[in-house]
Amino acid sequence: MRQCSFDVHAYDEEDDAIVSADDRCVGCQRCATYCPTGAITIRLSERDFRLNANWRPEHLMDIKRQAETGGVILTGMGNDKPYRIYWDHLLLNASQVTNPSIDPLREPMELRTFLGAKPDRLRFADGRLLTELAPQVRLEMPILFSAMSYGAITYNAQLALMQAAEECGTLCNTGEGGWPRDFRRFGKNVIVQCASGRFGVDFDYLNQAAVVEIKIGQGAKPGIGGHLPGEKVTPLVAETRMIPVGTDALSPAPQHDIYSIEDLSTLIYALKEATNYEKPVSVKIAAVHNAPAIASGIARAGADIIAIDGVRGGTGAAPKVIRDNVGIPIELALAAVDRRLRREGIRNRVSLVAAGGFRSSADVIKAIALGADAVYIGTAALVAMGCTLCQQCYTGKCAWGITSADPVLAKRLNPDIATRRLVNLVKAWSLEIKEMLGGMGINAIESVRGNRLHLRGVGLEEWELETLGVRGAG
Ligand code: SF4
Ligand code: SF4
Repeated sequence: MRQCSFDVHAYDEEDDAIVSADDRCVGCQRCATYCPTGAITIRLSERDFRLNANWRPEHLMDIKRQAETGGVILTGMGNDKPYRIYWDHLLLNASQVTNPSIDPLREPMELRTFLGAKPDRLRFADGRLLTELAPQVRLEMPILFSAMSYGAITYNAQLALMQAAEECGTLCNTGEGGWPRDFRRFGKNVIVQCASGRFGVDFDYLNQAAVVEIKIGQGAKPGIGGHLPGEKVTPLVAETRMIPVGTDALSPAPQHDIYSIEDLSTLIYALKEATNYEKPVSVKIAAVHNAPAIASGIARAGADIIAIDGVRGGTGAAPKVIRDNVGIPIELALAAVDRRLRREGIRNRVSLVAAGGFRSSADVIKAIALGADAVYIGTAALVAMGCTLCQQCYTGKCAWGITSADPVLAKRLNPDIATRRLVNLVKAWSLEIKEMLGGMGINAIESVRGNRLHLRGVGLEEWELETLGVRGAG
């Protein structure tokens, strides 16, 4: 009873027994995990409707809910529809006989990655580099933590992400909800976002971070804005976002000063000016149909990094209809953007960071072979901290203390244990990437970047192979 934040279990005094209102259960597994005698099992119990291949139970239940509420159905986390996951149809190469594989336990393997614009050519004189380099940010491995705002996730969850980024030598992203002052000490490992709401954006916010990211869109809800309800705007959230306590925090769908690539360029250079041209500026977009043309414009507008978030990207809250029906998979968008920038001869002007449902180290290395410089992980990071993908983040009742609005629930996440688990995850994936590189006879991740010869497609149509730029197996 104490563990469930959705009021499923109750004590019936008359019968002297615990009773359960099964229809309220969201399957978060908290009670089963913490049941001292292992007596609880959570099983899917869909309402029985007459079988109908067209009108499935999900459609019927959604219609019934909307007939009751008259409102948009909200949900949390990423798209759970069975669209094709291309990572599962791409296989990696391995060395046999002619070029030997490398033992990553005995030989150095290089995962270090630099994000930022690279020059067209380097000029040297007397052994000295004359070319002036654009600002670069160094990662010890090509894995970053995605944008997750304080307010959408708890203080302890954001603290864990920042501590883990510092320990792993990588970056985490504040999201668009500002940056709590206590966390400014992690500046060298933090990307700050500048989104349509401009929450928390001031001179110190921009200058204390390693990278500034303009958020145009996100994969879970392309084309629409964000809304943190007033009840979640506590005094610290309000101070962080620089808005009054208890007011709704609205991020409009468009940035009201950006209606063209020229406008975007003005904002990019305003941010560079504000940070003395010392920090890379990133632009994050959702993966949509014309992502390659948009990315080309962003690169030409002066961005140093482009982050592309695919249709399986997570979120704290989104209209279900948008999350499940808008956008395209990151695999197709990434391959198409990389190819377009190469064809135009401007691929070196930007680093590409891919996002949207990375589940394993294999997904990461395949993304790098398709052209990514690095990847953002969000859902995987939350799962490492304890998330069970119950999709109830928007309710503020997260039973695991990750996206909880209730301060009592929020205390359930121990930030030091969560940090340890995040560090373990990233280190484990890094070791696995080194194993896969070694098997390919490669000792540096740089050699895989954009090198589709290391991939082969299985079970894919001709058009899919062409879009991915990958040959079929065999
Ligand atoms: S909502 Fe979670 S804690 Fe509550 S009964 Fe269901 S699985 Fe258990
Ligand atoms: S963060 Fe919490 S509420 Fe959101 S899906 Fe994970 S367990 Fe559920």
